[in-house]
Amino acid sequence: MKAMTENMHLDLFIGGKSVPAVSGKIFEVEDPATGKRIATVAEGDAADIEKAVEAAEAAFPSWGGMEAEARARILNRAAEILTRRLPDFIDVEVSQTGRPVREMKAQLQRLPEWYSYFAAVARTHEGSVHPFGRNHLNYTVRKPLGVVGLVTPWNHPLLILTKKVAPALAAGNTLVVKPSELAPLTPIMLAEVLEEAGLPAGVYNVVPGFGATAGAALTSHPRIAKIDLTGGTETGRVVAAAAGKNLIPFAAELGGKASVVIFEDMADQAVPAALFASFIAAGQTCVQGARLLVERSIYDDVLKALVERANAIKIGTPSDPKTQMGPMISAKQRDLVEKYVEIGKAEGATLAAGGRRPEGEEYAGGYFYTPTIFCDVKDDMRVAQEEIFGPVVCVLPFETETEAITLANSTQFGLAASVWTRNGARGHRVAGKIEAGIVWINDHHRVDPASPWGGFKDSGLGKENGIVCYESYTKVQSVVANLSEDSFDWFDDDGREKRYS
Ligand code: NDP
Repeated sequence: MKAMTENMHLDLFIGGKSVPAVSGKIFEVEDPATGKRIATVAEGDAADIEKAVEAAEAAFPSWGGMEAEARARILNRAAEILTRRLPDFIDVEVSQTGRPVREMKAQLQRLPEWYSYFAAVARTHEGSVHPFGRNHLNYTVRKPLGVVGLVTPWNHPLLILTKKVAPALAAGNTLVVKPSELAPLTPIMLAEVLEEAGLPAGVYNVVPGFGATAGAALTSHPRIAKIDLTGGTETGRVVAAAAGKNLIPFAAELGGKASVVIFEDMADQAVPAALFASFIAAGQTCVQGARLLVERSIYDDVLKALVERANAIKIGTPSDPKTQMGPMISAKQRDLVEKYVEIGKAEGATLAAGGRRPEGEEYAGGYFYTPTIFCDVKDDMRVAQEEIFGPVVCVLPFETETEAITLANSTQFGLAASVWTRNGARGHRVAGKIEAGIVWINDHHRVDPASPWGGFKDSGLGKENGIVCYESYTKVQSVVANLSEDSFDWFDDDGREKRYS
């Protein structure tokens, strides 16, 4: 594996080989903490997507037809190899995303679990037998879909890709991946791990490039059998339309504006809970606790302590183990955050913390921004409703459980929420009334390969993780066998009553 230098260059990965783009074009990947180039990458477009789809089609009959046990062995080996190579992946992930090494170490250490979990699912998943009357046997079997298109974002480049790759491969599909052009390095590097694990050439193909070219070519390709996207809600609508045109399944993990509902009896945990939900990944996560809903009786104390702790978060060089918060992914993303802070101020919200770039030489070249907290927020303000995807959160008080639920449900999004209370019955009652695909009680942003993940409302369609995800990468074939020895001739008018359906 190549060391991280500014001369690093990665090509597309198609049919088991690293190849330049047909156009010969390349683009640059920068370190958002310094603004400096860390790598160049071949820029794929429609011609490269065509080649990748052809390679994936050629590999499908043998991979899809292989015993699940043999696929599971390869995935288990991938888990072992990835574990061994984690330090390289962590370095590159930190450099291309600007996320602190502390975060990326904790996150990437979990990734091998996805390969071993889905290896086990492939090995143990069972078909079913259905009631069909005593003269027939009806069973169903699951078959892989074919060539699947995976489109992924920049905020957790390898985690999100892994959540799609592991189940898709376990189920026997072949893949064409279009990673974000801001963080394409680890998705390309993953090819080496899978190859060493024994994955046949053409099963995993990566075409880095831009959404409007490579992404659009992949998601509208007529021979793709499914599209799985993680990205913004507007991208989700565009890609869903392409999937609709080709009548293929579409899964989407989209935007969010998660609420963190903190009841009075959890006052002692409120601040660490809110800080983690709000500022991990500099707020650039789809489940960011962007709306902190705090029971009125503890609101003033929680806000005061939250501001103190947010102001003390150590912003700095991502590779320093002491750094707690890194930069935004890009100048564009920081501009967007700054725009929203101005919008919030103009709407009448009060800045309780942050709202500026940090000062100092260390921050000069990067896209850093301070943890920002708005109070005096009204629920219908844009800062309280729209996904900002940065370290900006709103704190709102509530008086009653009913009001907390109403507030938690009052956005277009429904990805995730958390409820903090020591009253067990209330925790489950409130969780049940929140319209979100994932609700944590006394926790936030907790993930497991076995635990379904995905949003309601404008936050997406379908689920990652768990058996439900594995099944979504298969199609069901229903086999009906006639067990009777009797002859059946519908058009012989012999006077006997005959079954039609
Ligand atoms: P984008 O929607 O901008 O991009 C996501 C991916 O889609 C990128 O690879 C992008 O390519 C590609 N893309 C963009 N336009 C098209 C198109 N027309 N056709 C095909 N592909 C396209 O999202 P970001 O990368 O900015 O990621 C942030 C978003 O992702 C946030 O909204 C966040 O909430 C969401 N997200 C959701 C998660 C979940 O689990 N629900 C988890 C993580 C993030 P390119 O970047 O090259 O334009």
